[in-house]
Amino acid sequence: MSVEDCLFCKIASGEIPASRVFEDDVCIAFNDISPQAPTHILIIPRQHIDSLDKAQTGDRDTLGRLLQTAADIARDRGFADDGYRVVINTNADGGQTVFHLHVHLLGGRPFIFPPG
Ligand code: 5GP
Ligand code: ZN
Repeated sequence: MSVEDCLFCKIASGEIPASRVFEDDVCIAFNDISPQAPTHILIIPRQHIDSLDKAQTGDRDTLGRLLQTAADIARDRGFADDGYRVVINTNADGGQTVFHLHVHLLGGRPFIFPPG
């Protein structure tokens, strides 16, 4: 799939609408269309990276910004002390369905481990 056809690139550009909750120069965060918890937010880089598997050394700052953004949103929303789950599904066995790197931030309920 080309970057031109990428769903999350289209959300990043505004071509496809999304319920944005945060954005800065590196990241955009928006509500998942099919929430699996009271809070279910996706954090994506503006720059297209297929998956965690494809991240390069030069993407280290971006990877850090994605995780820091997840932690900041959890703190801002008031569920950081209770706890939350951060997930990066990667490739087929990891359950990845959209091949633009994204961090799931899930909060507002307890989670079991290991996930299914
Ligand atoms: P993955 O399975 O790749 O880790 O996660 C993809 C996520 O994107 C899923 O949780 C799915 O609900 C979400 N998603 C798929 N299409 C859309 C969309 O058009 N808008 C939003 N906001 N989320 C989407
Ligand atoms: Zn993309």
